[in-house]
Amino acid sequence: MAAKGLGQHFLLDLNLTRRVARQAGALAGQDVIEIGPGPGGLTRALLEGPCRRVIAVEKDPRCLPALAELAAAYPGRLEVVEGDALALPTWTLGSAPRQVVANLPYNVGTPLLVGWLEALAADPGCLAGLTLMFQKEVALRVVAAPGSEHYGRLAVLAQWLTLPRLCFDIAPSAFVPPPKVVSSVVHLVPRAAPLAPARLALLERVTAAAFGQRRKMLRQSLKGLGRDPAILLAAAGIDGTRRAETLSIEEFCALARGLEAA
Ligand code: SAM
Repeated sequence: MAAKGLGQHFLLDLNLTRRVARQAGALAGQDVIEIGPGPGGLTRALLEGPCRRVIAVEKDPRCLPALAELAAAYPGRLEVVEGDALALPTWTLGSAPRQVVANLPYNVGTPLLVGWLEALAADPGCLAGLTLMFQKEVALRVVAAPGSEHYGRLAVLAQWLTLPRLCFDIAPSAFVPPPKVVSSVVHLVPRAAPLAPARLALLERVTAAAFGQRRKMLRQSLKGLGRDPAILLAAAGIDGTRRAETLSIEEFCALARGLEAA
């Protein structure tokens, strides 16, 4: 019986799980970190490929017997960690090069992604790639361009540190039980270095203030930063009558650098 609180919507069609696994690209010689393997549909597709091994983190102990069977079928290549992925430094599991591949539980997809992005900000080499299934609305927020409806804090952080690509959608009917929403797979390739210099904590402060009042002009929405917004905006060469959703990632970085200098 699927547990709703754990976002349990399983993909059991091996053709589909193989298609998700293929989005990760060549995995030969790499460790794969899978979050929420459930009964192991995606895990099996990953193990069929040439990855070094799969380290799968699952919170629901009821999934462990099915995963133990899979581990026996692929000796030495599947390690199951029972636990809460939100409470673990999953980007340090196994050894580099490592990629994350996961059909994420909807309720913790965004905090997990933010955790991986923060880990990449500290160590760009910790993950070689991420292939993640989210509810479509979250996927659109990851890949959104400036000026678009879904552009916000998540797009800035994700695109500052990675190159994300929307791969394909999966209809609710493909899952057991079917969720209420469409899902989308996103593949993110970490940049060798962030798109522009900035300190993560300051970039997060600036985007939180700017998008916290996204309908307001920046000269108003940036007031909560504790610095005169007019000075910050002038130093970054940004017109104070603009709104958050029109700013490029480089412009947010310029504001974050200004906050540091102030
Ligand atoms: N990978 C499987 C598939 O594609 O069929 C299952 C995906 S299902 C959307 C999400 C899985 O994540 C469930 O097995 C659930 O028990 C597990 N899960 C939920 N919250 C978790 C957490 N915080 N840490 C680890 N696993 C979690």
